[in-house]
Amino acid sequence: MVKFDLKASQVDELHREISSHFLSFQTKNNLACPSSCGKCCTYPDIQCSVLEAIPLAIYLNKNEQLQEMKEKIQNRPTDSLCHLFQPIGSDGTKGFCSLYQYRPIICRIFGAYAHKNKSGRYQLALCSVLKQEKRNLDSIEGLDFQSSFSYWTKLLDDIDPYLAKDVNPINISLSKAIELVEQYNYLASSENDGSVQVS
Ligand code: SF4
Ligand code: SF4
Repeated sequence: MVKFDLKASQVDELHREISSHFLSFQTKNNLACPSSCGKCCTYPDIQCSVLEAIPLAIYLNKNEQLQEMKEKIQNRPTDSLCHLFQPIGSDGTKGFCSLYQYRPIICRIFGAYAHKNKSGRYQLALCSVLKQEKRNLDSIEGLDFQSSFSYWTKLLDDIDPYLAKDVNPINISLSKAIELVEQYNYLASSENDGSVQVS
C-alpha cells in the first residue's frame, strides 16, 4: 500500500528540483523568458501525466476550488487551451499561469533545454521566442543529460510508473487527477489510516 499523499509530496519535491535546475541553467546562459510572455501556454493540447497534476488537484481540494475547476473542464470539454492560462491583452501571446507553482514538468523546462541529436550529442533546443531574441549561443553551460526532458521524466517514472505514463492534454490529466483526489477523499473518510493504493 503506497500513500497517495506521499506520492504527491514526492512530485512536489521533483517539481521544485526541476525549477531550481532550469532557473540556474537559463539564468547563467542568459536564456530567461521575456516578461509577460505566455506564448507557449497558447499552444493547443500541451501534455502532462496524471501524476504531475496530482499536487495541483490536492491544492484545489484544500482550497475548495475543486468543484469550480471540474465545472470549468466540464463546460469546455473540447477546449485545447490549458484552463490555467490567464491571457493579458488581445494579441494572444501574453499572459500568465494562474497556478504557476503547480505547473507540470514541460512548463518548467520548455523554453531552453538540452535535446539529444541523432549522433547522441546534446544540443540546445529553444522555443520560437527565445530563438528570435538570442543571438550569442556559442558557449552554453550545462548542456547535458540533466538539462534534458528525459532525465526528469525518468525520475517521475520512479515515483509511480503507471500514473507517470498516463499522459494526456493538461486539462484531461487534471480531470483524471481530480477524480483520484475525490476517490482518496472518499476512502480517507471511511478508513482510519486515510490511505489508498493508486497503482
Ligand atoms: S500549466 Fe500554466 S505554464 Fe503550463 S501551459 Fe498551463 S498556463 Fe501555461
Ligand atoms: S518558453 Fe518561450 S514562449 Fe514560453 S514564455 Fe518563455 S519565452 Fe515565451
